[in-house]
Amino acid sequence: MRLTQQRKCILAELQRTTCHPTASELYQKVRRKMPHLSLGTVYRNLQVLVRHGHIRKLESGNSESRYDGDLTDHYHFRCVQCGCIRDIFLEGISTLASGLSSQGDFIVEGLNIDIYGICSDCRKNKSVKGEGASGNRHKQGMIKDIRDTSDQTAGGGW
Ligand SMILES: [Zn+2]
Ligand SMILES: [Zn+2]
Repeated sequence: MRLTQQRKCILAELQRTTCHPTASELYQKVRRKMPHLSLGTVYRNLQVLVRHGHIRKLESGNSESRYDGDLTDHYHFRCVQCGCIRDIFLEGISTLASGLSSQGDFIVEGLNIDIYGICSDCRKNKSVKGEGASGNRHKQGMIKDIRDTSDQTAGGGW
């Protein structure tokens, strides 16, 4: 594959970031250097780079695909709230893969692990709103229940 100026630029931009951008996010960045570039061109170049193993394409369900310029062995944590993707470097995964291979008449060539949850940013935002401790929520629920019944009898003494 010939690395055209466009492809070099897209590849360099992708290798510089760890935020796993979508094609359109990447397009916003690359356009600053190459204003004449179209989103379609970025998209096409990404497909070529994926096909030749220069980058990885991350399928993320029904949302837009994200791209990764980091080809080292790592896994991805996906935030179910904001959809961001963080790198996870897990020790022992290759050991696990070879261990699995020894269990049967097959060779494990890859493992697909779906790691998801709530990222640190979303957790921070959540605790600001005061939805942190579940114990408090439980207490609030009980108080509400008491008030609901007392409203009916005592006419809202609160
Ligand atoms: Zn998040
Ligand atoms: Zn990654």
